[in-house]
Parts: sequence; structure tokens; C-alpha cells
Amino acid sequence: MTSTNSNQDKFLNNRNPNTAMKNKMRKAEELNIGFIGNPNSGKTTLFNAYTGAQLKVANWPGVTVEKKEGALRYHNHVHKLVDLPGIYSLTSYSIEEKVSRQYILSDDVDVIVDIADASNLERNLYLTLQLIEIGKPVVLALNMMDIVKERGMEIDLHRLPEMLGIPVIPVSARKKTGLDILMHAVSHHKASEPKSNDVVVYSELIEDKITKIIERLREYNPDIHNPRFYAIKLLENDSEIMGNCPFDVSDIVDRSYETEIINRKYDFIEEVIEEVLVNRQERSELTDKIDNVLTHRILGIPIFLGIMGLVFFLTFTLGDGIKGIFEGWLESFSVWTEDVLLALNAGAILKSLIIDGIITGVGTILTFLPNIAILFLALAFLEDSGYMARVTYVMNGIMNKIGLTGRAFIPMLLGFGCTVPAIMATRTLENVRDRRKTILITPFMSCSAKIPVYVLLSGMFFGKFATLAALSMYIIGLVSGLLIAFAATKIEDKADQLKSPDEKSEVNQLLIELPEYKNPNAYSILIYVWENVKAYLSKAGTTIFLASVVLWFILSFGTTGYVEDMSQSFGAVIGHFLVPALEPAGLGFWQIGVSLISGLAAKEVVVSSMGILFGITSIDSAIGLSAMHQTLGVMGFGALNAYSMMIFVLFYTPCVATLAVTAQELKAAKWTTFLLIFQLTFAWIASVLVYQIGSLFI
Ligand code: GDP
Ligand code: MG
Repeated sequence: MTSTNSNQDKFLNNRNPNTAMKNKMRKAEELNIGFIGNPNSGKTTLFNAYTGAQLKVANWPGVTVEKKEGALRYHNHVHKLVDLPGIYSLTSYSIEEKVSRQYILSDDVDVIVDIADASNLERNLYLTLQLIEIGKPVVLALNMMDIVKERGMEIDLHRLPEMLGIPVIPVSARKKTGLDILMHAVSHHKASEPKSNDVVVYSELIEDKITKIIERLREYNPDIHNPRFYAIKLLENDSEIMGNCPFDVSDIVDRSYETEIINRKYDFIEEVIEEVLVNRQERSELTDKIDNVLTHRILGIPIFLGIMGLVFFLTFTLGDGIKGIFEGWLESFSVWTEDVLLALNAGAILKSLIIDGIITGVGTILTFLPNIAILFLALAFLEDSGYMARVTYVMNGIMNKIGLTGRAFIPMLLGFGCTVPAIMATRTLENVRDRRKTILITPFMSCSAKIPVYVLLSGMFFGKFATLAALSMYIIGLVSGLLIAFAATKIEDKADQLKSPDEKSEVNQLLIELPEYKNPNAYSILIYVWENVKAYLSKAGTTIFLASVVLWFILSFGTTGYVEDMSQSFGAVIGHFLVPALEPAGLGFWQIGVSLISGLAAKEVVVSSMGILFGITSIDSAIGLSAMHQTLGVMGFGALNAYSMMIFVLFYTPCVATLAVTAQELKAAKWTTFLLIFQLTFAWIASVLVYQIGSLFI
């Protein structure tokens, strides 16, 4: 029964004894300030303006939602700022909402700063009203006042706080105006408790029920904080709060009053806007003009594809150009290291470990840095200008059909270049489920490293249909990815009985919003690129280092110790071991097994290992190709085997770097392991099907 008890505690008294102690020990003047607001309201910009880039990025316990903390010095006090995930409301539909809600309700937050986009006041006030209902100190930061002024809008800054019952401070995170006053208000507002939390008054029926529930809550726990908030949530049939409620309220909560409660809030917002907003204007004319073209019913998708083409081009063409320079440096560094090792009389094993293992493995990954930096620069640019939100809008219809948001389309597209940055790009998805699903299917988009494999095998076996055979891989990958996402959504829906289809589409609808177009801000862009590059360097770097050493080891050591010849290595033993498993797919050759394993380092390696394993030096040349064709032909490896191998390469784990980045992004070993097994199983089943069905006809 302990778990029930702790749930009850969580429900009725958010004071955790440990944090309560900590809070007592904290100096009275030190505040924990939670930044909350709709996505794109400027939380991160404001957060950066206060803290510089001095932030600590971690995850909320148990979930993969990013938690950013920073310290702020204000009049000799140090306050702690927390940048919460962007949300539209305090329901429990998404993990982001749950995380934010739990944190705000907990004793870890002294003051809530609600950051609202003042140029979109109407939409932003919905969350504000919910925050006020919590009954904690809330300060409304009216952000983007520069835009409001620019557009000739006016907000009555006396009437607004009067109507809301909380301080309202106009600021501009970008222009850095109003920051001091905001902090001043935050420091002082904390002192002036208690807060009224009944700005929005509901119908008599609902208010009556609220009173009854509050009585019952008080009976149960006289110290309960914010009973009104809980009462309202119970009336909304909030799944989480209902689940934790320690007593029966079914006599009062006879049905969900959610719609009435939501509508009443919107009515109130309308009253507020009516009184407070002078020169009401929804969006700037410029934005509307640009959107007439960019989100055009017919032109929208081609324009989007064009822009993504440009991003692709920059990432992979320009990036590869710079990558070439890095590769040159790497080559020189490798040669130089070899010379040094030679001069030092280092043994063959050490030399091989350093050159073939570490420098090749880690170095190869480092050479991707230009691609990564350019990609994230482009993404930051699209995001900060406001275009990214339009992709959601343009692609949402199609993507919704398979249970994903339009945003998921971006990582999938990038996956045709390289899966590593593509998986990192899933960060732009706000919802964890969408991220998981997108990470699940992104590796099925053929990355550029698979091209050599397709080119080699189709060139050898398909003659004039070679291009068609290679192209089919892209289409099969894309279609399978979409079908898998669709299937995953169906499974999720089954597993998630609490969520009715209507609720779900409601959530999806809420996520479509088109913020103003803005001139991208260099500072935010640089911070964004730097954060991503740093993450890539530090975490992927360490994991890849280990993986490279392991791979080097299994290909360089055998039962007899260190071996020069790969066919004597443990890798070869494993290759032989794999033969029975690969047999049904027409791939039952130990060399194929080894080259598939070595392909885990990077897909290009499949081609070079086949060259080494079949003893063909110049695999790129015409002579090399026909020699290999003959060798394989003698072994009984024909066109069908080749196609089956291409299918296997298409579907199985792209590379160790992908796995490392997946682990890093999902921060869950369980999911990464599942993905690995899923990819291997799927690849195996697909290639067995191709081979077995193909054998019936050939
Ligand atoms: P978040 O999603 O709430 O973290 O929002 P961001 O901080 O990422 O800001 C969203 C966009 O609004 C970015 O393009 C910012 O540069 C821009 N922005 C933020 N604050 C202001 C502001 O005060 N004025 C203007 N003009 N733009 C702003
Ligand atoms: Mg943000």
C-alpha cells in the first residue's frame, strides 16, 4: 500500500519532506523561479538574457524532457531560474505538461514567471489563467513588446493586472528591456501572499461542485495547498489527478466538466482582450503576405521541398567540401602519428589500435563536424525565423495520417543524408512519443553511406537496371518507415486507453500555430549551434571512442592472439557463427557476415571489407568489379542474393554512431536496445522474405 500512500501524498501535499528541508536551509532571499509559457513565447531568449549561456542542461527525472537551469545574480542574491518546456495548457495530455505541472506545484518553485507573447496575447492567456488557478505567486512577463510597439498595438497595462490579479511587466527578451523591473517584481511579489486564484468564476453549478470538493479535500488534509486547482482538475476529469485522488468523488464529479471550464476561460479571455487591447491586430501584414506564398495550399509543399533541398545541399555539398579539408588533416595526422609511433618503436598492435582503431573510428566521426555545424546552423535559422512552424503546418495533414506531426518530416528528410544529425534533429519535436517514433523510422531513410553498397551490388548484378535497383531502396525505405510509424501509432493508441481519439486530435490541433516571421537572432542561433556541436563532440565522441576500440579488437584478434589477417580474427569466428542465421536470406557466407558486422562502424565499410575479405584490392575499378563478380558467382551468390543483401543493409542498424546518438538522445538504454533488436530483426525478416519469395520465381 505504500505506493498508494505516496500517491496520496503527492496528490494532497506536494511538500516533499526532503525538499522542504532543503528549502528551509536555502537563504530566504534566494528564489527558485520557474519560466513557463507557450512554445515560441521567448522563454529561452529571456532565460539566456538573464543567465548568459551559463546553463545546466539535464533531464527531468525519469523522462526525456530537457531541463535547463541557470543562476541569476540580482542585488547580491542568487536566484535559480528553470526554463520549462513550452506548453499551451496544464492538462496531463503530454509529458511536457505533466513535467511542468508537477514542477510548478512542487515546493521547488517559489515564483512562477509566465512568459507570454504580447503580440499574441489572446492565445497566451489561456495558460496564464490556469497558472493563476494554482494560487502560487505568478508574474506575467509580457514579452515581445518591441513587436507590439512596432505594429502600433497598445495594451492597457493598468487594466490587465487589475483583471488578472497579478503583476504584469512588459519586457522584450530580444531587446533586453524590462529585465530589471521583471526581476524586481518577482522578488517582491513572492512576499505578498496569499494569492487569489478565483479570477475566473464558473457557472453556479460548477462553483458549487468546486466548493464541495474543496470541503472534502480539506477534511482529508487540512493543510492542502491550492485545493481550488485540484477541484477544477477533478471536474475536468484530468486522468493523472483522478488517478491519484485518494477518495471517491464520483457523487460530485458525475461527468467531465472540461468543456464548460475551457469555454468559461475563453469567455473570460475575450472580456480581457476586449478591455485591454487597443488597436487589436492578429498578425503583421508582412507575415500574412509571406504566408500567402509559403503556406499556400498548392505551392506550400514544393516550396518546402525546395528549401529542404537547399538545406541538404548546404549540409552535404558545402559540408562535404569542408569535410574534405578535415579528412586531409586527419590523413596527415594519421601519417604523422604513424611516423611518431615508428620513431618510438611502438609495437604493431599498439600502432594498429591507435591508427586503425582510434584515429579511424573517432577521427571519421570528427570529420562530420562541418556537416553537423552547417545543418544545425540551417535548422536554427529556419526555426528562429519562424519557418519551421510552417513545415509543421504544410506537412501536418499528410503526417497526421500516420500519427506523426509535420515536424517529424524534417529529421526523416535529413536521414537521407546522415542518420546521426537526423536523429539529433528530432530535438525539434516537442513531444517524446513523436521523437521515439521518428527515431524509430529515420534510420530507414537511406543515408549517404549506404550509397556505395547499393552502387557496388547493383552495378555487379543488375546491369542496365542498376539505377532502378538502387532507387528502389529509397522508396522501400521510405514506405516501410511510414507504415511502421502508422503501425506504432495504432499500437500506442491501443496501449493508451485513457486517450480517446477526439482528445488526441485536439492536442494535434493545438500544436499547429504560426508565429510571426522574425529576423533570426545571431545570438540565439550561435547558442543553439554551439549546444548541439558540443553535445555531439563530447558525448558521441566518448561512446564512439569505445565502440571503435571494440570493433578494432574483434577484427584484429583471434584465438591465436593478434592477427594481421582478418579471416583469423574473432570477427571471422563470429562471421562463421552467423552463417546459419544468414542462410535463409541467401547471405550464408562468413565473409558477408563479417562485412555486415564491420558495417556497424559505418556503412561504407561494408564495401571495403568485402574487398579485403574476398581478396580484391581495387573494388572501385571495373577489373576489380568483374573479379569480385566472378568470385561471388562461383560461391553461388547471384542477383537475388545481392538484392537481399541490399535490403539487409537498408534496414539494419546504420552505424555505431547512430546507436550512440540514439542512446544519448533517448537517454534510455531500454529503448536503444529495443531499436537495435528491432532493426536487426526487421532487416533479417525483410531480406529472408525477399530471398525466399524471389527464389520461387528465379
Ligand atoms: P521559447 O520557445 O519560448 O523558448 O521561445 P524562444 O526563446 O526560442 O523565442 C522564439 C522566437 O522569438 C525566437 O525567434 C526569438 O528570437 C524571438 N523572440 C524572443 N523574445 C523576443 C522579443 O522580445 N522580441 C522579438 N522581436 N523577438 C523575440
Ligand atoms: Mg525554448
